[in-house]
Amino acid sequence: MLIDMAVRIDSRVRVFTLDTGRLPQETFQMIETVRQRYGIAVEVEGPDAAEVSRMVTGHGPNLFHQSQELRRLCCEVRKTRPLELKLAGFRAWATGLRRGQSADRFGIGKVQETGGKIKLNPLADWTGAEMEEYNRRHDVPVHPLYAAGYASIGCAPCSRAVQPGEDPRAGRWWWESDGQKECGIHFLPDGSVRRLNSGH
Ligand code: SF4
Repeated sequence: MLIDMAVRIDSRVRVFTLDTGRLPQETFQMIETVRQRYGIAVEVEGPDAAEVSRMVTGHGPNLFHQSQELRRLCCEVRKTRPLELKLAGFRAWATGLRRGQSADRFGIGKVQETGGKIKLNPLADWTGAEMEEYNRRHDVPVHPLYAAGYASIGCAPCSRAVQPGEDPRAGRWWWESDGQKECGIHFLPDGSVRRLNSGH
């Protein structure tokens, strides 16, 4: 939906995504769908291969199940650091964050200044119903996993479908009972990017 809006404003908009190395196949299908539908290049950024190798060699490929600290380390290596690296080349960027997605996102503004960059959250006050209506009206392609009951889609081993009425973030890192359901990228209430203390 965000891409649909942006392309209507300026088809030269740059779109990027993070390939953590653990994404579901459906997300790659979605990237291809977006490329075809909007005729844009999607810039795909990955984590540093040597960092991933060190992490996985030291803690195993599924380290996120061992402790919250290791889960956050995985998110930091696979998501937060590549995002920070990518953003170094931009003065402003936009996300699809919405206040209704979780309590942690309740305070996000539509325009924020973070780390010397302008961060736009144009969908901050949109409801799920309003988004569905926009998508229907403009025939916007949506990620296939939404139809399977997912409310929040990230890496394959850390995302699952939720029950109707359940918190949208309940399908992320569901084995963590007391953890913030964020990966470090969107951890702060104001939506700014800041690395969590991952203990290493
Ligand atoms: S969501 Fe899971 S697999 Fe993906 S980076 Fe975070 S801990 Fe690692």
